[in-house]
Amino acid sequence: MENSQRWICRKCLLKDLPEKNYLRNMYTYIANLSEDDKVSDKEYECRLMKCRECVQLINGMCRICGCFVEMRAVIAVRHCPDNDPKW
Ligand code: SF4
Repeated sequence: MENSQRWICRKCLLKDLPEKNYLRNMYTYIANLSEDDKVSDKEYECRLMKCRECVQLINGMCRICGCFVEMRAVIAVRHCPDNDPKW
């Protein structure tokens, strides 16, 4: 089993995981999404750039929706939850 697969737990909350593992889990989740579900790399970077410039971004999370923006922005059907959407 690959090292990255060892920390996939379908029942754990973030608080139940060792701190550095939940970030690794997020990146594993993103990497394993179907290409059909993801935006292009260019669109992803564009979305994240807008989040970086946004006052609602705190510690990687959007204060409006509570999502980790790196996870939200990669999914094609998601959008910025602001009343004036940035992406
Ligand atoms: S998702 Fe939208 S509101 Fe949230 S941090 Fe990104 S740009 Fe800002």
